[in-house]
Amino acid sequence: MKLRKKVVVIGGGFGGLGLTRALASSSVHVTLIDRSNHHLFQPLLYQVAMAGLSPGEIAVPIRAVLSRQANAKVLLAEVVGVDLEGRHVLTREMPPIAYDYLVVAAGAESSYFGRDDWAQSAPGLKDLDDAVEIRRRVLLAFEAAERETDAAVQRRHLTFVVIGGGPTGVELAGAIAELATVVLSRDFRAIESDATRVVLVEGGDRILPNLHPELSELAAANLRAMGVEVRTGLRVTDIDADSVSCGSERIIASTVLWAAGVRGSPLCQAIGLEVDRQGRAKVLADCSVPGRPEIFVVGDAAAFVPAGTDRALPGVSPVAMQQGRFVARQISRSIDGHPREAFAYVDKGSMATIGRKRAVAQFRGMRLSGLLAWLAWLFVHVFYLIDFRNRIVVLLDWTWAYFAYRRGSRLITGRRLHAGAPVSAPLRPLAELAMELPTTSLRFGTQGAPLPPSARPLAPPPPPSRAPRSS
Ligand SMILES: Cc1cc2nc3c(=O)[nH]c(=O)nc-3n(C[C@H](O)[C@H](O)[C@H](O)COP(=O)(O)OP(=O)(O)OC[C@H]3O[C@@H](n4cnc5c(N)ncnc54)[C@H](O)[C@@H]3O)c2cc1C
Repeated sequence: MKLRKKVVVIGGGFGGLGLTRALASSSVHVTLIDRSNHHLFQPLLYQVAMAGLSPGEIAVPIRAVLSRQANAKVLLAEVVGVDLEGRHVLTREMPPIAYDYLVVAAGAESSYFGRDDWAQSAPGLKDLDDAVEIRRRVLLAFEAAERETDAAVQRRHLTFVVIGGGPTGVELAGAIAELATVVLSRDFRAIESDATRVVLVEGGDRILPNLHPELSELAAANLRAMGVEVRTGLRVTDIDADSVSCGSERIIASTVLWAAGVRGSPLCQAIGLEVDRQGRAKVLADCSVPGRPEIFVVGDAAAFVPAGTDRALPGVSPVAMQQGRFVARQISRSIDGHPREAFAYVDKGSMATIGRKRAVAQFRGMRLSGLLAWLAWLFVHVFYLIDFRNRIVVLLDWTWAYFAYRRGSRLITGRRLHAGAPVSAPLRPLAELAMELPTTSLRFGTQGAPLPPSARPLAPPPPPSRAPRSS
């Protein structure tokens, strides 16, 4: 009897989940490992952070998505290394998992350009914990301002600085301005509707640098019309609990949000893959890594440089989805003895929303702004939400918010009542976990045999660098 090949997929995001589903009718066993139990629709994370949607509306259990796929198994575990020679994936929680083909789809994380100490004062937005923490900080800042009698302190509570003028920074800045002027103004008695100050800081010479300059201009004009101070060409030199410094200028603010950069999953380096300056694994035309045709990297974790160009594809969901489906096909082709193909990205365009009825978009040379772009943004985001129930709930929520000028998810969770202090400890970096490896997870089976020489322990995260996605 012919043995079925084992495919192990690390990460149930756009890349990993798309790939697993694309293998549904293949004669392989797929094991999808993720350290969280849900697939997250990251493009709508800012809506959770800004109290527009609740976490359950943009996430769906991976197990539920794959429940009908007989050849797929889901494991909730954190991958900490790979035994490349023995072809085993090493997790913190269980014995090594054998593979014939390995797909790394572990995504990216926030990058602070070497200043990881800023993370405490300026949280980034990468997962649901981040979104809920940002929501808590923003809502608590308004609560603190309502209690405050000292005008200067109230001003500090009502000043929000968003660092990074990519799509996420623009979305966050626009949403805070809207939250303050449209939604919250009628619920608070001691806060004037125009008292909130939102500053969007961008180091480059324009926001949304991935879009046509005309759209960047339009987006900046829209933000200004909403009361956001758009500051370009301004480099952040320090962040503390009460302020952001940009050279000699100090902006006093209780709430600072980070949307300035991401880097590829530290797992790529931990596995021993060659990475670029942004910590993304360098891959070949078929998305496999040099010298290891059985290992593929897709999505945000990969640095895929299309032939004839010198720039890696951006860290956006269409790249991850298309690469996931492409690699599924290459695995099937390899098993059937066919040669591999080269991945070709189909760019369907880019868009960013700024606020109610305000967005900018470009599709194949066509540029849109205003209501039309906003409707296109709404349609695309609802369409790509993975669960049918979520699509309906999100549509209903947005319709209600549109007509009632309300945000349904303004809950402050966590026990502390201070705006800045995080409720939960931030996720521990993989490099830190590596310190525990000899005594914990990197043992084989239940016998606790030592790590084989070919198993690569985790290395420190890559040096900080600019983000693949400009947010
Ligand atoms: C706030 C925000 C807004 C965005 N907006 C847009 C947008 O509007 N349009 C767009 O196209 N793109 C957008 N993106 C980018 C898009 O979400 C990513 O490009 C896409 O999610 C990448 O997919 P992926 O599969 O590579 O990684 P991810 O979707 O990030 O999935 C990675 C998975 O790997 C898991 N994982 C990581 N490490 C481990 C480990 N060691 N062990 C086990 N599991 C692990 C994670 O839990 C996660 O589930 C946005 C991203 C963010 C953060």
